[in-house]
Amino acid sequence: MTHSYDTPVSQSLFDRAAAVTPGGVNSPVRAFGAVGGTPRFMVSGTGPYLTDADGREYVDLVCSWGPMILGHSHPEVLSAVQAAVARGTSFGTPGEAEVELAEEIVERVAPVERVRLVSSGTEATMSAIRLARGFTGRPKVVKFAGCYHGHVDALLAAAGSGVATFALPDTPGVTGAQAGDTIVLPYNDLAAVTEAFAAHPGQIACVITEASPGNMGVVPPRDGFNQALRDLCRTHGALYVSDEVMTGFRVSRAGWYGLDGVEPDLMTFGKVMGGGFPAAAFGGRRDVMDHLAPAGPVYQAGTLSGNPVATAAGVAQLRLLDDVAYGAVDTVSERLRGLVTEALTAEGVAHRLQTAGNMFSVFFTDTPVTDYAGAKAQEAFRYTAFFHAMLEQGVYLPPSAFESWFVSTAHDDRAVERIAAALPSAARAAAQAKPEAAA
Ligand SMILES: *Cc1c(COP(=O)(O)O)cnc(C)c1O
Repeated sequence: MTHSYDTPVSQSLFDRAAAVTPGGVNSPVRAFGAVGGTPRFMVSGTGPYLTDADGREYVDLVCSWGPMILGHSHPEVLSAVQAAVARGTSFGTPGEAEVELAEEIVERVAPVERVRLVSSGTEATMSAIRLARGFTGRPKVVKFAGCYHGHVDALLAAAGSGVATFALPDTPGVTGAQAGDTIVLPYNDLAAVTEAFAAHPGQIACVITEASPGNMGVVPPRDGFNQALRDLCRTHGALYVSDEVMTGFRVSRAGWYGLDGVEPDLMTFGKVMGGGFPAAAFGGRRDVMDHLAPAGPVYQAGTLSGNPVATAAGVAQLRLLDDVAYGAVDTVSERLRGLVTEALTAEGVAHRLQTAGNMFSVFFTDTPVTDYAGAKAQEAFRYTAFFHAMLEQGVYLPPSAFESWFVSTAHDDRAVERIAAALPSAARAAAQAKPEAAA
């Protein structure tokens, strides 16, 4: 695929990267495989803007896949990080910042009575399902198609996100033994969950679900779905595990739990809570969490868990995220959704704008999307054209039609106006796109 603009420095960096790293990237979706073209190597970020290695500036609607909810280089987060770095970068002992971060999480999210810090969302979900199995003494895990819980072996089946982007049916390297206790069900399908519990009596340790899925595009739970899952789990002695790695501390002070109030047994967090550093967590009911070593028998550990720099960043970011901040993110999200709908409607492009709090994404279809099959049925080739037209005009969207868009408190009028100016021609490009263009 050719594009009407060059990015020679990014291209040469990508060539160097490809010579030493598989596919030239350290996380697959960054390679632009789904949309074509050269991935932009970014060199700096300020507020809502990113600058690439060729000196081009973009309004950023990815926000590092969610974490940068205060925008890039927020001065108070940076100064907390600099102060932490000046004291030393890792001690391998307990430290005060990790206590502060844990206290902040416990204070915000009522179902979390105890929390353990880790370094990635993948570690959080991996540890949560190990704990659920250890606590219940049962082997099986229910997950939903299109929900992504990191690249945990047992949870990669029908995992949305990068797996959806690359249309990988399954991941080689995950054995039948590793995935054999995973039951994959269609999202938003309660009858399927009821049937699974009936078919595997006393075998299901937990149901894990994204609190509101954002990794197949934004596909919120139907009214009452999470509560019904919660109730089914309770009836059958299984744990209800809500993955809030994406929604946690993003859609409200208490994440998705703050919006729907359904009480999980275990929850997982990442992204926003790390303030742009690798910090993540899992937590929940005290009696369950007390099964973790050293309080209990289920082993879990991490050399850099609770790292002083990462936790300082997380604490600084969370303390700045009050109701005013969430109100600002919600407002800019609503403005952008209005602008996107207006532009696509003006060009007669069939689309659904789907929303979960301040997260949203566009599906190029006229049918509401309630599950992974629906998400995959969209005309993703239109997104490719739309994406590149926005990129050329200095707006950085997720390089995949199966990802949420993210905004921040730093997306001010100037940033929104730049997006508004880019939308009409991008909508036209989407309208004119042909399926072949996706090849
Ligand atoms: C991003 C994400 C993960 C994985 O987190 P990593 O830090 O990338 O390992 C897990 N669950 C959900 C819902 C996510 O969005």
